[in-house]
Amino acid sequence: MPKILLVEDNEMNRDMLSRRLMRKGYEVLIAVDGQSGVEMACSEAPDLVLMDMSLPVLDGWEATRRLKASEVTRQIPVIALTAHAMSSDRDRALEAGCDDYDTKPIELPRLLGKIDALLNGALGGAVVAEERLG
Ligand code: MN
Repeated sequence: MPKILLVEDNEMNRDMLSRRLMRKGYEVLIAVDGQSGVEMACSEAPDLVLMDMSLPVLDGWEATRRLKASEVTRQIPVIALTAHAMSSDRDRALEAGCDDYDTKPIELPRLLGKIDALLNGALGGAVVAEERLG
């Protein structure tokens, strides 16, 4: 099953979302601030990152910028999670390099749809690349 790195400092949100994702069969890794999120993305190579934007140490925008600036982690899809539905937040998240965006409170079916779309997109791309090589 795909491995999802959840970067979230709020314990209640983190526990609830990770439990729901695990129930759907995903392997879930957890980081509680932006800095450890970047480090875990490098060391654990998750298939996708769910990134809270309001984080201690390093916020989600800066953490995403670092992920997208590194060749090791650039290809990992990042979905930004913020508490605000404002279009400026969405724009800032996409500017930082996030591949998609969702707002809290999380509606699981909607978020799962975005996760699936990015994972299948990424897998599809990998298959195409492999075919080209092979
Ligand atoms: Mn937060």
